[in-house]
Amino acid sequence: MSERMKQVIEEAERDLLHTYNRFPIVFDRGEGLSLFDIDGKRYLDFFSGIGVFALGHGNRELNDALKRQVDKLVHTSNYFYNEPAIDAARRLKAASGMDRVFFTNSGAEAVEGALKAARKYAYLRDGVADHEIIALENSFHGRTMGALAVTGKKAYRDPFEPLIGNIRFGKMNDIASVKDVLSDKTCAIIMETVQGEGGIHPATADFLTEIRRICDERDILLILDEIQCGMGRTGSMFAYQQYGILPDIVTTAKALGCGVPIGAFLLRGKAAEKSLAAGDHGTTYGGNPLACTAAATVLSLYESMHLVEHVGEVAPYLAEKLDGIKSRRSDVIDHRGLGLMRGLEFDHPVGDILNRALENGLVLINAGANILRFLPPLVIEKADVDEMIDLLERSLG
Ligand SMILES: *Cc1c(COP(=O)(O)O)cnc(C)c1O
Repeated sequence: MSERMKQVIEEAERDLLHTYNRFPIVFDRGEGLSLFDIDGKRYLDFFSGIGVFALGHGNRELNDALKRQVDKLVHTSNYFYNEPAIDAARRLKAASGMDRVFFTNSGAEAVEGALKAARKYAYLRDGVADHEIIALENSFHGRTMGALAVTGKKAYRDPFEPLIGNIRFGKMNDIASVKDVLSDKTCAIIMETVQGEGGIHPATADFLTEIRRICDERDILLILDEIQCGMGRTGSMFAYQQYGILPDIVTTAKALGCGVPIGAFLLRGKAAEKSLAAGDHGTTYGGNPLACTAAATVLSLYESMHLVEHVGEVAPYLAEKLDGIKSRRSDVIDHRGLGLMRGLEFDHPVGDILNRALENGLVLINAGANILRFLPPLVIEKADVDEMIDLLERSLG
């Protein structure tokens, strides 16, 4: 490591609040699937900044659109209309099958809005506000107080109690555990279609279909958090499209702006019509012309690049290669995932593997102590998979 990199890291550790144990690397620029640190070393990026950079780094058309918008208009507030927001909303509705869009600045904020919409829907219906929400253990929905309250990891929640009340937890793919916590007060079930931070666990078709059926039967809103698994990552624009169901509310963020901070919650039918109204919710930045130019351009590029179809072509190759690693190594106990969202579970912590991968020029991350997580940019080709597998095998030890 150069003196300069050491200095930058020392300064960061002095000035930034230490809420992350960061890897000792300072990235300087990106190009396609490559990241370069300030010493000029190249890395293959199979993490995309937590599944954000779907288009790879430095997409020319996205960058040009953003530059044009910066010179035109950056922010106006939600007291006025702006065309990029209307364009982004129209594209997002078409991609998701939902009816209305609220733009936020992050994933957690999208979850907050979704929870408020669900509570408001039940409040309007019943005239009281004591409803319960069911979430799943092992889930991740964000770090703000509401999103944290539905995050199924006790250690994340405990220091910050009391969070919002009336949250019950069931288990992913265990319908009996959800039925156990259902009550007449349940107003919503929130879950990730594919759990991300919790270790790459896709919902089974039986589980999600039955959850949808229960929600329909009891007028409960189904909120699907697709912040990590949405935006084409699993081989369909949204993962729920592979299950033949629609949620009442869906949250998205991460790849939506491909690096420009933007999220959204989308509502359908009764959830769109009978929940949040004027005065119920708001944001200063959310849906501003710059962020929405990012989302609209990203959605338009997905179409022109046939990106979702591309995921369908390249993901089976990545899955096959990871299956190969599993069959060759006795310490790999599971390989699972959907599309380009994959996990390789070891019988030991993977921290050393991550460090060796970085030394070898491969950016990967974990999802839980023992699970390697693969969230490459969606534009990868088979040759990139080959390069990654080669670097990974050298890093496994
Ligand atoms: C990342 C993530 C969030 C939180 O998004 P932020 O933009 O970090 O607030 C919520 N839900 C899921 C499934 C996520 O992966």
